[in-house]
Amino acid sequence: MSTTATPTEIVILGAGPAGLGAAYQLAKQRKARVTVVEQRDTVGGAAGSFEVGGVRVDHGSHRLHPECDPAILADLRALLGDDLLLRPRHGRIRLRGRWIHFPLKPLDLLRRLPPGFVLGAAADAVTGPLRRRRREPETFASVLERGIGPTICRDFYFPYAEKVWGVPVEDISPVQARRRVTVNSPSKLLARVARGMRRKAPASFYWPRRGYGQIAEHLREAAERSGATVLMGTRVEAVETLGGRAVAVRARRGDARERLAASHVWSTVPMTTLVRLIEPAPPAAVREAAASLRFRAIVLVYLVLEAGRFSEYDAHYFPEADVAISRLSEPKNYAALTEPRDRTVLCAEVPCDVGDAVWAMSDEELRDLVAASLARAGIPLRVPVAEVTTRRLSHGYPVYLAGFERHFDAVDAWLGEIDGLLTFGRQGLFAHDNTHHALHMAYAAVASLGMDGRFDRERWSAFRAVFDKHVVVD
Ligand SMILES: Cc1cc2nc3c(=O)[nH]c(=O)nc-3n(C[C@H](O)[C@H](O)[C@H](O)COP(=O)(O)OP(=O)(O)OC[C@H]3O[C@@H](n4cnc5c(N)ncnc54)[C@H](O)[C@@H]3O)c2cc1C
Repeated sequence: MSTTATPTEIVILGAGPAGLGAAYQLAKQRKARVTVVEQRDTVGGAAGSFEVGGVRVDHGSHRLHPECDPAILADLRALLGDDLLLRPRHGRIRLRGRWIHFPLKPLDLLRRLPPGFVLGAAADAVTGPLRRRRREPETFASVLERGIGPTICRDFYFPYAEKVWGVPVEDISPVQARRRVTVNSPSKLLARVARGMRRKAPASFYWPRRGYGQIAEHLREAAERSGATVLMGTRVEAVETLGGRAVAVRARRGDARERLAASHVWSTVPMTTLVRLIEPAPPAAVREAAASLRFRAIVLVYLVLEAGRFSEYDAHYFPEADVAISRLSEPKNYAALTEPRDRTVLCAEVPCDVGDAVWAMSDEELRDLVAASLARAGIPLRVPVAEVTTRRLSHGYPVYLAGFERHFDAVDAWLGEIDGLLTFGRQGLFAHDNTHHALHMAYAAVASLGMDGRFDRERWSAFRAVFDKHVVVD
């Protein structure tokens, strides 16, 4: 139990947006002495940036969505100033061999959608009320097929879902369809198209001039300016608990080991990793539940092309099963950069599982896989690839397998019993969330901590109920 006599010492695991957002707010509000421990040498986690071929790139396509909480957005605006650009979205989706603008535009849809697809989707909308609820347990497939109809499911949602999550749609939980798919009924689809018709300006997103990672870099600077310490290249090896309370974090940087005493440990690392870090180890049932929670991996393949530009689009989406990549982005187009003039970089996202054939491929094999995928999709590389770089994300997406809630609840309940320990963020709450959601969690955690160092569990539970309603913005 914290007292006002000793200062509140919070050790935060992970310097992604969630960890740094919390560090910044805790330090700024003088609620605690804060140390952030990050295993990598760069901040931002999956939302960080780095350089390839003289171009700043992100971990796949990243945008800050205008749905961000206004108070958080105001903070980011103040931190990034003129570097936070508002940019029009300009992507496209490949559907039955044709390219459709994304976000959807009514005229473009009318002109480009294959007639068979339009007729099928329209018939599905009309017959929607006749589609019955199945008796057996619902799945991602049954909820979406009943809601939006078989045509859009067959041509778009199902192959894309199976590619991204790596399991048959019948094995995916209905929670994925209800909470994570924004357009899951004809009325929502029509509403989205109507929104496109009413919109005077194009759909837009925020993007930092020097790459998405600038958000985390500015949060780090602001946190440090307010007194927080950020330890980079330092891997957390254990979270010590004593009498049911988190008391310290053990970390390692190279050969150096450090023990950080803490009155609170706030973790943003994958919740399955956190379970393995806690000492003494949890009961076998909790370890088994954690082992049943699955993450999908992503290999990111960066191709440096000897050309000023590959295409006019920021991102291309590939739902088709016979194209290995799920998305291709061209970072220079996110901020309409013209420099460097003779080079551009493409980033292809290849979903896979840790240790499978794709994960194990060499850079050259991955370059060839991406080149073959683009050729199959009708947009071949027409210029030489000067360089290939790859990055691997072992925890790309949480996979909501049917029945995952049972395992999640068991882990969540056990972690929730440890005083002073909190888990949040995309990995920490096993949530397929955006950056603005991760920041919302961070701000909510800080709001739940009193100036006296007492953490208000009831307030946090109320916030958790709000997090459950987060819907991913594509
Ligand atoms: C391909 C892709 C595209 C995305 N596109 C968008 C988008 O367009 N818009 C959007 O809003 N969101 C997008 N997201 C989601 C966004 O990246 C996340 O919401 C955000 O990164 C979550 O931040 P976080 O701090 O919760 O977690 P993370 O960013 O995962 O940070 C966790 C940190 O913990 C560190 N860590 C893990 N284990 C240890 C350890 N043992 N010791 C020390 N440190 C450790 C990691 O290195 C990492 O830095 C995308 C995600 C992916 C994968």
